[in-house]
Amino acid sequence: MEPDAVVPPTALPTPTPEPDVEARLALAEHLLACDEPRLCAQHVVAWLTRERPSDVAACLARDSGTERWVCLAARNLSEAQRDALAFQPGETSHPLAETLTQGAPRFFSAPPAPLPAVGCIAVPLGRPGAPAAGLLLLSADGPTLTPDAAWVSAHVGPRLAAMLPTEGREVAGGELLRRIIDTVADPVLLTDLEGRPHIANARAEVLLVAGPDASEGRRRATELNRQVFSSALASFASGDTSTVRRREVPLVDPVEGIDLLFEVVSTPVLEPDGRESLVSVMRNVTDLGRATQALGESYRRLRDTEREARSERHRLDRVLDSVPDPLILSDPAGGMVMMNSPAEKLFATHPDSGEAALRRLRSNNAGFSSFLANLLDAEGRPRWRGQLGLVDPATGATLPMEAVANKVLGDSGELTGIVTLFHDRSEALEKARLLERVKEGSVHLEARVQAATAELAEQNEMLRRQAIQVEQASAAKSQFLANMSHEFRTPLNAILGYTNMLLQGVSGELNPAQKRNLTRIDSNGRHLLEVINEILDITRIEAGRMPLNLSDFGIPELLQEVMAEMDPIIARSKLTVSAHLGPRVPAVYSDRQKVKQIVLNLLSNALKFTHEGSVQVQAEYVAATSTLTISVTDTGIGIDPANQEKIFEDFQQVDSSPTRAYGGTGLGLSICRRLATMLGGRVTLQSTQGEGSTFTLHFPRRARRA
Ligand code: ADP
Repeated sequence: MEPDAVVPPTALPTPTPEPDVEARLALAEHLLACDEPRLCAQHVVAWLTRERPSDVAACLARDSGTERWVCLAARNLSEAQRDALAFQPGETSHPLAETLTQGAPRFFSAPPAPLPAVGCIAVPLGRPGAPAAGLLLLSADGPTLTPDAAWVSAHVGPRLAAMLPTEGREVAGGELLRRIIDTVADPVLLTDLEGRPHIANARAEVLLVAGPDASEGRRRATELNRQVFSSALASFASGDTSTVRRREVPLVDPVEGIDLLFEVVSTPVLEPDGRESLVSVMRNVTDLGRATQALGESYRRLRDTEREARSERHRLDRVLDSVPDPLILSDPAGGMVMMNSPAEKLFATHPDSGEAALRRLRSNNAGFSSFLANLLDAEGRPRWRGQLGLVDPATGATLPMEAVANKVLGDSGELTGIVTLFHDRSEALEKARLLERVKEGSVHLEARVQAATAELAEQNEMLRRQAIQVEQASAAKSQFLANMSHEFRTPLNAILGYTNMLLQGVSGELNPAQKRNLTRIDSNGRHLLEVINEILDITRIEAGRMPLNLSDFGIPELLQEVMAEMDPIIARSKLTVSAHLGPRVPAVYSDRQKVKQIVLNLLSNALKFTHEGSVQVQAEYVAATSTLTISVTDTGIGIDPANQEKIFEDFQQVDSSPTRAYGGTGLGLSICRRLATMLGGRVTLQSTQGEGSTFTLHFPRRARRA
C-alpha cells in the first residue's frame, strides 16, 4: 500500500489572503489554554471538520508509556478503527510510520486499514526540522492540503510538539502565538485593560510601534495611534468586560499618512496568572467607512428629497382640497395619481362601500376613462371639454357633469400628466329649466295681464260712465230736493203764518177745541219746517252750496247767544243748565254761524234726552294743538255703545219705532258732523247708557279755507 504522492514542502499552499481569522484565533486561544495533548487533539480534529462534518479526521501521537503511536482524537471512526490505527514507530513497512520518517504530508488514494477507502492525506505535526510529534489524518480528494489543514500543520504542530514528550518542548508559547498571529493579515493585539500592548502582530506593530530608525512623522503617527487605541480600549474597561465589544477607532497610516478607520473587536481573556487582558482584532474598514459615509450622505439626500417631495405633495394636497369641485390628476397613461376629496366621493372605493356603491363607482371610473381617451387619442389637442353623466355612489342620484381635461407637459414638451376638473351642472340645468318655466309662465302671465287690463279698462269705462250718471243723478237729486224744499217751505210758511194769525184771534175769538186743533197744526207745521230745513242743509252741503263764512269772534258771546235762544226750552225743562268757560279761551277765526248751529243742536239734544239732573256747556282751549273744544254734558238716558257710531248717520235714531218717545228727524247729528268737517274739526261722543252723554265739538282756532 504505497502512497499516491508525497506532497512536496514547496507544494504546501500558502494560506489564502482572507482566512477565517477569528476562527483561527479561537482555535489558537483554545490550544493556548489547553495543557492536555488529547484535549488539544480533539479541538484540532473538531475544528478541521467544522465545515465538513462527514469528513474523516484523526490525530495520532506517541504514547509516552508504550512508545506506540496511538489515536488521540478522531472523527467518523469507530472505537475499533481508532485502536486499529495504532502502530509501532519502528515498523518501517507501515505507511504511516513511513510518513513520519519522511516528515512530509502524503496522499493515499487507498488509505491503510482501518481507514475508510476514500482519499486521505497524512500530515506529520511538529517543529520544523525536528522529529514529528503527531500525525494528522484527513479525508482528501487530492494531494493538496486545505488552507486550514496547512495552517494547522504549520502552527498547531509545534504547539502539539511542545506538549508531547519530544525534543524541543521548550518552545515558548509567546513565540508560537507571535508566529500564529503574524500570519494574520489584520492587526491583532493582546493588551492589558488600559490598552497597553503585551503582544502585537506585525500588522499591529506597523500601526502602533515605530522602530529606532523611523522618521519623526512616523513616530508621531504611531504615538497618536497608540493614544487613540488606548483610550478606545480604556472605555472598554470602564464597561462590562465580560463580553465581546466592537467599536470603530480612527487611526493614521504611519507610512502613507492617510486616515484609516478600524473596527476593533475586543475579547476579554484571563491570563494564567489571573490578570485580565484583551485580545483585539482590528479590521481596516476605512473603505467601508467611506462607503458608509457616502451611503449616509446619499441616504440623507434621499431623505431630504423625499421630505421635499412629501411637503410638495402635502402642498399639492392642500391646493387640491381647497378646490371645491372634483379634481383628478392622472398619469400619461390615464391612471389616477391624485384626487381631491370631492373627487374621492365619486371615484374612490372605501372599505365600507356596499355592492351598489361599488357598481356606481365602477361606472363612474369607466365613464372617466372613456372621457380621457378623447384627449389621449388626439395628438395635438391640449384640452378636452365634454359632458359626463356620473352617479352619486352614495345615493345613486345622477350627476350631470361638465369636465375639462388639460394636458400637463414637461420641459421638453412630453406629456407628464393630465388634470381634470369637474363641474356639477345639476344647478345650472335646474336653473335653465326654471328659467324656461318662468319664461313660459311670463308669456302666459302677460296674456292674462293683457286680458285683465282690457277687462279693467272696460270696467273703468263703465265706472266712469256710472260715476257721471251718479253725479248727474246726485245733482238732479240735490236740485230736486232744493226745489222741493223751497216749494214746501213757501206754502208751509204761509200755513204757519195763517195758523198763527188765527191763534192770535185775528179772525175772531176761537173756542177751546178750535184753539187746540190750530195749536196742533202749528206744532206739526213747525216740525215739518224743521225737517225741510235740515234736508235743505244736507242737500246744500253735499251740493257744495254751503260756503264757509270765516270771521273773528269770541266764544263767550257765542255761548251767551246760544243760552239765550234756548232759554224758553231750558225754562220748561226743570234741569240745571249752565255754561262754563275754561281759562284763556281766545277769540277764534272760524264760521260763527256753523259753530253756533252745532252747539245749538247738541244742547237741544241734551235737553231732549235728559229728564232730570243737569246739562253743562263747557268751552276749553287746547294750546298744544291750537284747538277749541265745546262740550255738552248731560245726565240723560245715555247711548248704547252699539249705537254710538250709527247715530251720526243720516236719519239714524236709537229709537226708530213708530211709537218712539222723542221727536226729531235723525238728521241733526249728521249735519253737525258735516259742518264740523267743513270747519276742519270733528264731533266726538262719550256716553254710558243710563248715566248720560258728552258730545264735544273740536275745531281749530284758525280755520283754513278749503
Ligand atoms: P234727532 O232729531 O232724532 O234728535 P239727531 O241726529 O240729533 O236726531 O239724533 C239722533 C239720535 O241720537 C237721537 O234720536 C237720539 O236717539 C240720539 N241722541 C242724540 N243726542 C242724545 C243725547 N244727548 N242723549 C241721548 N241720546 C241722544
